[in-house]
Amino acid sequence: MAEKQHPVPAYGLAARDHSGLLSPFNFSRRETGETDVKFKVLYCGICHSDLHMLKNEWGSSTYPIVPGHEIVGQVTEVGSKVEKYKVGDRVGVGCMVGSCRSCTNCSQSIENYCPKMILTYGGTYHDGTPTYGGYSDVMVCDEHFVVRVPDSLPLDVAAPLLCAGITLYSPLKFYGLDKPGLHIGIVGLGGLGHVGVKFAKAMGLKVTVISTSPGKKQEAIERHGADAFLVSRDQEQMQAAMGTMDGIIDTVSAVHPIMPLIGLLKTQGKLVLVGAPEKPLELPVFPLLMGRKIVGGSCIGGMKETQEMLDFAAKHNITADIEVISADYVNTAMERLAKNDVKYRFVIDVANTMQAP
Ligand SMILES: [Zn+2]
Ligand SMILES: [Zn+2]
Repeated sequence: MAEKQHPVPAYGLAARDHSGLLSPFNFSRRETGETDVKFKVLYCGICHSDLHMLKNEWGSSTYPIVPGHEIVGQVTEVGSKVEKYKVGDRVGVGCMVGSCRSCTNCSQSIENYCPKMILTYGGTYHDGTPTYGGYSDVMVCDEHFVVRVPDSLPLDVAAPLLCAGITLYSPLKFYGLDKPGLHIGIVGLGGLGHVGVKFAKAMGLKVTVISTSPGKKQEAIERHGADAFLVSRDQEQMQAAMGTMDGIIDTVSAVHPIMPLIGLLKTQGKLVLVGAPEKPLELPVFPLLMGRKIVGGSCIGGMKETQEMLDFAAKHNITADIEVISADYVNTAMERLAKNDVKYRFVIDVANTMQAP
């Protein structure tokens, strides 16, 4: 199957239906416009939402779908009005490639909350054509939605920061949970949680990982630098930790009780949800009232903040723990991801393993 709406030939992996099975796909990218950056994709992370989208689990997928929103590479061409980038620069594209650029949210650099935000894949671009993500050899994107990957960050381990990294960094900043000495909990030690621990530690926080798996204690503390570990199913441990946390970032995307988490918060503590369970969670109001506690949400971050996050990561040597895979391994990787069998992010070696035949 081929798709030729644009002049630039592109090659990638696409799912054709809700089986989610990825197979080679010839398609096209637009010509590099005045404010566009074109780059050779070198690596692309595999996010859990790729899996949801491939299988149409959120009901919004349109096929064919080329996933991938943790994209890094090297600039090969820039439009005549591009100011920030030049050929050879190391760049990345995260979860969005466009927005209206004029609404209140856009003018406040929170394009991620623009009602017309355009997703990197599975969306419709300004010209009416579908957007295709980073499981592909070439990317064209308006420079406003491109970030610079600092030289000190290797590209493969930086890729997951573009979604997982900003998803954790942004709520820590916005909810004021970035002040040294605060005690925060991070629920779930997966792709999101493990980078969250690293950002939180670099901000000078005391970090407790909260997990259902006691087996993750050692890696949480020794590998990622968490200060403490709490098994959420252990009533005694949970009881002992009641009222000790200034904030909690909950990365779990399965349906789960949040009452115990609210109990862990100090008075005026904040519980921030960044996972997306398919069904509503039960919200117990009484414990919120009694402690003036806050339950909030957060979804990735704006472009300015995404750049700030990458610069912060470079300064503090924060990278994702990854397993690099070849393009022909993606379907197996998806099966493993569905079982959470990855430490902690798969990253596709696009440049070396995804070439048009
Ligand atoms: Zn993602
Ligand atoms: Zn807007």
